[in-house]
Amino acid sequence: MTGQIQMPAVDDDSVRKAAASAANVAYSIPSISDQEKSELKQRIKDQLAAKDAVLVAHYYVDADIQELAEESGGYVSDSLDMARFGNEHAASTLLVAGVRFMGETAKILNPEKRIIMPDLAAECSLDINCPVDEFSAFCDAHPDYTVVVYANTSAAVKARADWMVTSGIAVDVITHLVERGEKIIWAPDRHLGSYIKKLSGADILLWQGSCVVHDEFRAQELARMKVEYPDAAVLVHPESPAAVVDLADVVSSTTGLIKAAAEMNNSRFIVATDNGIFYKMKQAAPNKIFIEAPSGGDGATCQSCAHCPWMAMNNLRNLAEVLETDANEIHIDPAIQAKAIKPIQRLLDFSAKK
Ligand code: SF4
Repeated sequence: MTGQIQMPAVDDDSVRKAAASAANVAYSIPSISDQEKSELKQRIKDQLAAKDAVLVAHYYVDADIQELAEESGGYVSDSLDMARFGNEHAASTLLVAGVRFMGETAKILNPEKRIIMPDLAAECSLDINCPVDEFSAFCDAHPDYTVVVYANTSAAVKARADWMVTSGIAVDVITHLVERGEKIIWAPDRHLGSYIKKLSGADILLWQGSCVVHDEFRAQELARMKVEYPDAAVLVHPESPAAVVDLADVVSSTTGLIKAAAEMNNSRFIVATDNGIFYKMKQAAPNKIFIEAPSGGDGATCQSCAHCPWMAMNNLRNLAEVLETDANEIHIDPAIQAKAIKPIQRLLDFSAKK
């Protein structure tokens, strides 16, 4: 069998329901007044200092949280860099604002530290769509393939992998493996996998997962938007469908897209990734205009298109609460941790050599 596999046991319906439920939770949080916002921020800063903790946030969480991370000596980045920052920082506790696999990756890299998260139910459709039992069985059925997984997977799936990669380095790693004559199992994002396959020419078996946010970007509508804004550059994350990627001026990781926004001469950009990234894009390029790429909208898989419903479960209230109550700590079975560190370390070593 080459190229594609059947959908794993967890079906699209399960993911749709989980995303809808997360979106309902996120939308049911009452908005925060300016006064409450500043009180919450102060409470969080006091707690961070009292608990020897640092706030590490993903690009896709609310702008207030990203701002607070920066104001309080924390960090805003992609998942691997968040874990790397946590590893280098002296704090004994990392407060991770993002989704669960990010807290797990931080714990795998920092087993001696306490990792807490605002809401342990904040998941990721890619992670949900790649249950370890089905994935392991698939890998067992193809023993001559090298197993490469994306960062957006559980600790248990990482423990079954040979390599973990992020979108910024995936093509380099796969090209390196192709040069060594290796055949690849790629999981879980099918769009990113297809993109890598096309660029590297690798023999890849693709797991059929997808991101509820990126999967909803629409090529036809994007083509129309390009006509409407002919001066705009189109920035696309490769978790988006191939037809959307084909319309891009730049295809890159979150960090790469922010860099492109800052460095390109265009004054207007159409952006196909989670709109949480606009905080950092506006910071990097304050005088430029950023427009969301068109998505499926109402009735689509993604209940809050262009914004991840699980990322939206992070808010200033539950950040303050988790610090005050010492709840929501991430624990990982030591046997899984010992295996999961290997594919991550392989990536870190590869990236350091580059
Ligand atoms: S934006 Fe997509 S890939 Fe990122 S955490 Fe949400 S569901 Fe997962």
